Amino acid sequence: MYCARVLFLCPGRLILVEILPIGDGMKILIADDDPISRKILSKIVTDLGYEPITVSNGKDALESVKRKECSVVLLDWMMPGMNGIEVCREIRMLDSDNICYIIINSAREGSDDISRALKAGANDYISKKSNSIELKARIGVGVRTAQLEKKLIDLNNRLKYLVRIDSLTGLLNHAAILKELSIELERGRRDATSTSILMLDLDRFKAVNDTYGHQTGDKVLIRFSNLLGQSCRSFDRIGRYGGEEFLIVLPRTEDEESLSIGNRIRARAETLQIDNEIENLRVTCSIGSCTAANSEKHSFSMVAAADSALFRAKKAGRNMVMSCK
Ligand code: GH3
Ligand code: MG
Ligand code: MG
Repeated sequence: MYCARVLFLCPGRLILVEILPIGDGMKILIADDDPISRKILSKIVTDLGYEPITVSNGKDALESVKRKECSVVLLDWMMPGMNGIEVCREIRMLDSDNICYIIINSAREGSDDISRALKAGANDYISKKSNSIELKARIGVGVRTAQLEKKLIDLNNRLKYLVRIDSLTGLLNHAAILKELSIELERGRRDATSTSILMLDLDRFKAVNDTYGHQTGDKVLIRFSNLLGQSCRSFDRIGRYGGEEFLIVLPRTEDEESLSIGNRIRARAETLQIDNEIENLRVTCSIGSCTAANSEKHSFSMVAAADSALFRAKKAGRNMVMSCK
């Protein structure tokens, strides 16, 4: 049983979800073909305060690890079908986010056997003759290590997320939105579908800062970003290109639809209420649109074309959408 905890949700359309075992409790997998061993090990695991999951063969052990049911695995070596060493190797070939501390628990005690198990990817090796005190201590080490590894992976995912996000607006940042554009163009070329972009710039934004101060200016940027999130489709990508400029990537979108999305945003921006206390603070935006038929354009030339369409919108009086065609 799992629950999903949403770590981040933002208008840039990136959602990071962490899958947690219910209650965040550590579950320990016991794979052993001998029912008595399974019973003894289950008792030890329960005494330690963890929940045991028991299986009687290697194949079921591997499936359980794949389902991410446990973080520590107690593996018997000799099992029918797939033995413990084979399971170990298979586990280590899984995705790196498949955290798993493996303890081989076997009657074999030779140095060669221990070396073989560790080389196959086991973290530890314990003889079946060991007493429960030693086994408990080693399981404790496994739990600690697995928890640490999980923390590191979570932190790494968080960093990967943060490095792509604009901290003020929560949208994708400059580098991330350009990367998304390249990815969408590549995908569009494969699927022979068009990709469009919108380059947006707030009109006379400097005057907002000069009149109401930078904090109110920041508020405008946040409100406008939220409006972009509400005006786009779930598969569109929204980024802050820089300052008061925004870039939206519209996958599978022809020129006409891009213009209509641009116009919808432009019209909504006009009615955007920024601050209840500053009633006459209103913003407008100018937008340049560019479409690559069959996605046959480079991201660099698309941005340049949308930028020059935006420039024409500004020249023509602002608060309008222009296409690069
Ligand atoms: P135009 O209609 O021609 O685009 O005029 P503009 O005033 O919007 O353009 P200009 O380039 O002259 O000014 C942009 C302003 O955006 C200046 C800068 O201080 C402001 N700005 C850029 N980033 C931020 C930010 O993060 N917060 C705030 N409050 N202001 C910002
Ligand atoms: Mg501007
Ligand atoms: Mg600007």
